[in-house]
Amino acid sequence: MTSKLGKGGGCPICGKPVSTEARPFCSPRCKTIDLGRWIDGDYRLPSEDEPDEAEIIDLANHLRSQE
Ligand SMILES: [Zn+2]
Repeated sequence: MTSKLGKGGGCPICGKPVSTEARPFCSPRCKTIDLGRWIDGDYRLPSEDEPDEAEIIDLANHLRSQE
């Protein structure tokens, strides 16, 4: 994973050079995409309290197959 920190990092959405008009994005379009992500809940923190259901089923099948 490459991460450019500091100046010249580019648009957080597409990585293109940032426009002064739409900072910190390259264009109003990317600004809207970012806003949409917030609304959709993409930035929600992953919950570690709830186990993955598929993982439990997989584990159960694995244990059953060993009997
Ligand atoms: Zn962009």
